[in-house]
Amino acid sequence: LRVLAIEGTAWAASAAVFETTDPTERTDDERVDIFTDAYAPDSGGIHPREAAEHMHEAIPKVVAQARETAETWAAEHDEQTQNPVDAVAFSRGPGLGPCLRIVATAARATAQRFDVPLVGVNHMVAHLEIGRHRSGFESPVCLNASGANAHILGFRNGRYRVLGETMDTGVGNAIDKFTRHLGWSHPGGPKVEQRAKEGDFLDLPYVVKGMDFSFSGIMSAAKQAVDDDEPVEDVCFALQEHIFAMLTEVSERALSLTGSGQLVLGGGVAQNARLRGMLESMCAQRGAEFYAPEPRFLRDNAGMIAVLGAKMYDAGDTLPIAESQIDSNFRPDQVPVTWREREAW
Ligand code: ATP
Repeated sequence: LRVLAIEGTAWAASAAVFETTDPTERTDDERVDIFTDAYAPDSGGIHPREAAEHMHEAIPKVVAQARETAETWAAEHDEQTQNPVDAVAFSRGPGLGPCLRIVATAARATAQRFDVPLVGVNHMVAHLEIGRHRSGFESPVCLNASGANAHILGFRNGRYRVLGETMDTGVGNAIDKFTRHLGWSHPGGPKVEQRAKEGDFLDLPYVVKGMDFSFSGIMSAAKQAVDDDEPVEDVCFALQEHIFAMLTEVSERALSLTGSGQLVLGGGVAQNARLRGMLESMCAQRGAEFYAPEPRFLRDNAGMIAVLGAKMYDAGDTLPIAESQIDSNFRPDQVPVTWREREAW
């Protein structure tokens, strides 16, 4: 089974090919190649129109690279190379509308050209499923720590339920807004991680309400602390400690409430070693297993769309072209999970 996938919800114009003998689980012979062309704003954050212009330029190029790979792999198996894939998957949402529309158009055209089914993938569920697929965990709780989102998901009765989520901005976006205030270039997360290594603790707001959390107060307080001449290294350190402790607290409560002994991490902020370290020691203390995929599957990438696309295709979960409209507010709990046994916690 071979699936070509296209991703382009915000900054990453990405295409991938996933080949496997069994899409339901990780196999030794599976392979994933990912081609990504990243949009990097000259100044400020991600501008939706500029991001869409980038998608317009870059998506055809990365799709062509993925198609060539699919043809090469088909030839290696002595298969015909005219239609080298079984399905075309794409990110249907959530994300920036102008970007998603370009991705969807490219996916429809590619599926029609190869005369294969189209699979519409929820980007946030893909962030989760790549961790479940790579770890082999049965029913983990998942912390999605990405740019535009932050939520904790658990599976129950055929759907991923949102157990807790940000009440305002996404976790990466909060960090990026702080660094924009300092005049640092996008993305800010890796720069904060670097500077935090030299910093000491200072107090910032810590906001967890039940299973939900908020980042806007801490972001404003961090900006103010820098304006008040606190050392930037200390503010970076404190920002990470507070934000990641909030995410770790809620993840632990989710493990406790669901009774799950497995946690997977997803999203671009999960590239941060301090966040992974905190979650790892929390899991170790309660005897739970922890898994974070390798970085190429954490930041936005079409590999995770291809892997989930293959599972959905295998389950018969395909999309008629006429019903393949995008959904920029597509929530993970809207997705009927067709590729897993329907089970309770
Ligand atoms: P979403 O997946 O919700 O649509 P997104 O498209 O913005 O979000 P991701 O690729 O998941 O993107 O994540 C990008 C975010 O990850 C940016 O906000 C960036 O600052 C952050 N990030 C990247 N590396 C690190 C790091 N080492 N530490 C903290 N944050 C990081």
